[in-house]
Amino acid sequence: MKDKKVLNGEKVTVKLGKLNIGDGKPVFMAGPCSVESREQIIETALQLKEIGVDVLRGGAFKPRTSPYSFQGLGEKGLKYLKEAGEKAGLPIVTELMDEKNLNIIMEYTDIIQIGSRNMYNYPLLKAVGKVDKPILLKRGMSAKVKEWILAAEYIASNGNKNIILCERGIRTFETYTRNTLDLAVVPIVKRETGLPVIVDPSHGTGIRDLVAPMTRASLACGADGVMIEVHPNPEEALSDGHQSLSLEEYGELKNSLL
Ligand code: PEP
Ligand code: MN
Repeated sequence: MKDKKVLNGEKVTVKLGKLNIGDGKPVFMAGPCSVESREQIIETALQLKEIGVDVLRGGAFKPRTSPYSFQGLGEKGLKYLKEAGEKAGLPIVTELMDEKNLNIIMEYTDIIQIGSRNMYNYPLLKAVGKVDKPILLKRGMSAKVKEWILAAEYIASNGNKNIILCERGIRTFETYTRNTLDLAVVPIVKRETGLPVIVDPSHGTGIRDLVAPMTRASLACGADGVMIEVHPNPEEALSDGHQSLSLEEYGELKNSLL
């Protein structure tokens, strides 16, 4: 059996409003790990818009390692995220963890994120293959390139070729960083699939100070964009504060890339 059927390396540009993801101009996605309150996400969205972000991120259904950690605000979080996106004039991306929430997520979001932990969830991949919204498919934390590409193929072969791949680091023997950011895959999966590929240096390193240099490295190796965690007060964040940039830090980084 041939492995690749639908994604054959022919270039795919993902269109979303005025954005053409994969057309050569990098796309900037940013926002908090989790939507924590209406005020938090609206304040963040308005400031990110000023800074020049293209897509607002924020988790409402959170895949947390511990069941005792903040699990996200659920549908209320989606409402706040949508309101914040509308107020700021930004499209939004949020994670779908469970197929049972597909209809709810469809009502709110512009891009559906499939997280690292769900890259191997084949029923979920098939389900988002049948919808008409772009899918942000994160690399599984232990996924080989071939497995990641075949996960994308699950979505594409069910009818949805609007897929953005996202490298977010993999588990290796190295524990100094949260994950090992594998930038060599950027040109590889771009060539193999034709899909746009973005990088998440926040989860990819887990260390705030590494986000700026790894953003530059991602863009230098041809990434079609970056997704970065930004929080108005990282010290108080309910999830991933240690790897989140403040709005000021993100503004400086974004300006320095011009
Ligand atoms: C996230 O983007 O908030 C997230 C949970 O990422 P990942 O699936 O890469 O761990
Ligand atoms: Mn996070």
